[in-house]
Amino acid sequence: MSSNKHGKRTILVVEDDTSISNFICSTLQTNGYTPLTASDGKQARLMLTSHGPDLILLDLGLPDLDGLEIIKWVREWSTVPIIVVSARGRESDKVTALDLGADDYITKPFGLSELVARIRTALRHADRVMGTGTGSAETIKAGDLTVDFGKRRVMVGDREVRFTAIEYKIIALLAKDIGKVLTYDFLIREIWGPYAASDNQILRVNMANIRRKLEENPAEPKYIVTELGVGYRMLEE
Ligand code: CA
Repeated sequence: MSSNKHGKRTILVVEDDTSISNFICSTLQTNGYTPLTASDGKQARLMLTSHGPDLILLDLGLPDLDGLEIIKWVREWSTVPIIVVSARGRESDKVTALDLGADDYITKPFGLSELVARIRTALRHADRVMGTGTGSAETIKAGDLTVDFGKRRVMVGDREVRFTAIEYKIIALLAKDIGKVLTYDFLIREIWGPYAASDNQILRVNMANIRRKLEENPAEPKYIVTELGVGYRMLEE
C-alpha cells in the first residue's frame, strides 16, 4: 500500500464529471486525505496499479466502461475498500456493486459529512480485516447498544434484550460490519444457506421482531436502518 499507517491516506477518485471530482478532492484534502484522480476506466486502472491507493471512490457511469467492471477487475487481486458513488434510484446497480465486492455506496447528491463518515468507516473496517487496527473486537458499541460476541448478549443501556438464535445471528452479522450495508441476499445466504428462498419475507419478519425488541420506536429505527431495495445497515454512533 502506498501510504504508511501514520501518513496521509491516499484516495483515488474515479469520476468523469470534473466539477464533482474537484468538489470531492477539496473535501478529501480538508479532511487530511491525499486525493488522486482518474476520469475514465483506463486511467483508473493505471492509477490503481501505479499508486496503490488506500481507498477508491468510484462513479459507475464512466465514459469508456461501466464502473462495475472496475470492481470486478480490482477484486481479482485486491481488497482495497471501494465506495461506489451512484446516481439516485439505481438500486439494482447498488446491489450488484455490493455483491461484486464494493464496500459501500453513497448516493448523489450527498453531503460532505456523510462522504467523510463513509470513508472513515470503510478505512477502519479495512484496518480491522488487515489486523492493523484495533483488532477483532469482542464487543461492539453503538450509542446505547452493546453487542457482546463472547457472551452472545445484546444490551440497550443496562437492559439485556433477549433474541432468538436467528435474530441474534442477524444482529451479530450487522454489528461485525457496523457502518456497512449488508445486502438482503448476503444476510439470507449467511443465515439460511445458499438454497434458501430468495424472497426477503423471512428476513423482514425477523427484522420486524428485532426492531420491536430493540428500538424505542420501531418505525424510526436508530440502531439498524433499512437501505431501501438493498439491505440493512447498523449505524455507528
Ligand atoms: Ca459519470
